Amino acid sequence: MRREGRNRMSDSSLRLVWVYPDLLSTYGDQGNALVVERRARQRGLDVMRVDVRSDQPIPTSGDIYLIGGGEDRPQRLAAERLRRDGGLNRAAENGAIIFSVCAGYQILGHEFINDLGEREPGLGLIDVVSTRGEGERCVGDVLADCDPALGLPQLTGFENHQGVTHLGPTARPLARTVVGRGNGTGDGTEGAFHDTVFGTYLHGPVMARNPQFADLLLKLALDVNALPPTDDRWYEALRDERIAAATQPA
Ligand code: GLN
Repeated sequence: MRREGRNRMSDSSLRLVWVYPDLLSTYGDQGNALVVERRARQRGLDVMRVDVRSDQPIPTSGDIYLIGGGEDRPQRLAAERLRRDGGLNRAAENGAIIFSVCAGYQILGHEFINDLGEREPGLGLIDVVSTRGEGERCVGDVLADCDPALGLPQLTGFENHQGVTHLGPTARPLARTVVGRGNGTGDGTEGAFHDTVFGTYLHGPVMARNPQFADLLLKLALDVNALPPTDDRWYEALRDERIAAATQPA
């Protein structure tokens, strides 16, 4: 899953870019930046975190880019600005690691339905197309078994979306739902990934609920197979609580 010729971090600091916190940061998605940053620092890495507002250019030299979810109108504005800016596409060409949630995930695909009911072009960084679900909004806890190639434990998260995401041939499902709707297509898939570009419907924030995912992004950035262990008792307690909540009878 590693991009051929991907550059290792060019110096000792990890460049973490949080994209458009002013438009895309619902349901605590800011926590993803906090958790990735903290887990990097716990491993002794020097982290340069850049929060890029939507009126600022996207730096192209980041190692890891994080994009959160958003309501329908901010999602359209974010897609327009990201297309115009072009920086995220250039970063992807450089082999950057890009992790996106919900509205951010839809924006990374080929297109989605915007707040005006129109087809809005995305960035085409992952082979998915999002339509507007005809049924009830997908809301609730999610448990999903991750693609074994990623080496992650079962994911827990919270979803809240109307969009339904269809995967094209070059996108792999990130996970298979055990509880919840995920991509919403009825085929049991949740999220998608290709190379080092990831999309998921899981809020929570997903990095706090699944810190191994944060570590996966760090391992990809560092081009290593393992990281020093951390004390994850707090994360485990949260995880147990959310699994219990997701599986208890209604
Ligand atoms: N507006 C999008 C949808 O409803 C994304 C929502 C979100 O990011 N939570 O599908």
